[in-house]
Amino acid sequence: MTLDELRERANGCTTCAISGRRTNVVFGEGNPQSPLVLVGEGPGEEEDRTGRPFVGRAGKMLDQALADNGLSRQDVYICNTLKCRACEWTGDRARNRPPTPEEVLNCRQWLVPQLAALAPRAILCVGAPSAKNLIKPDFRITRERGKYFPCEFAKVAIATLHPAYVMRQQSATNDGGYSLIVSDIGRAWACALQLSEKAGV
Ligand code: URA
Repeated sequence: MTLDELRERANGCTTCAISGRRTNVVFGEGNPQSPLVLVGEGPGEEEDRTGRPFVGRAGKMLDQALADNGLSRQDVYICNTLKCRACEWTGDRARNRPPTPEEVLNCRQWLVPQLAALAPRAILCVGAPSAKNLIKPDFRITRERGKYFPCEFAKVAIATLHPAYVMRQQSATNDGGYSLIVSDIGRAWACALQLSEKAGV
């Protein structure tokens, strides 16, 4: 199935209860030919509103970390573990929450064929839920980020800290791990390029 066909089908997905209150399915965007695919956790408020991944505060940090490597969003493909926003509702107020294991499993019906269609050389898992889903269930993000792992969907997968986590750790004297995101993106990109050169692409 092509990416466009998949996107169209995902737009009609009602497998999880969270589909009921979504504004948009956030399927993914960027360069589908890129050797590197970034897989985040799931849409937040801004992503749900616009239908685009990583366009809120965490997305601004991700854009900056890409730029610090001389890259832009058009150089990579960006998508998420969940295609719908996971949140709790109190009346009309929504609060983001982590995806449940069941939601992650359900959403593999979109992520797995999406990654198969993209066939990247390398995957960068942005945050623990993505690494647990694509690398191994017991992945420890603070200990194992920045390391190379085998992966079913690419030659190699690397994980990095989630920008939302880094923002919570930041203070006047601490970058909260931002420099680690920058170096992990750099490693993932270099590795993806090297693997494409090896394959003669
Ligand atoms: N956080 C994510 O993991 N993905 C997004 O698209 C936005 C924020």
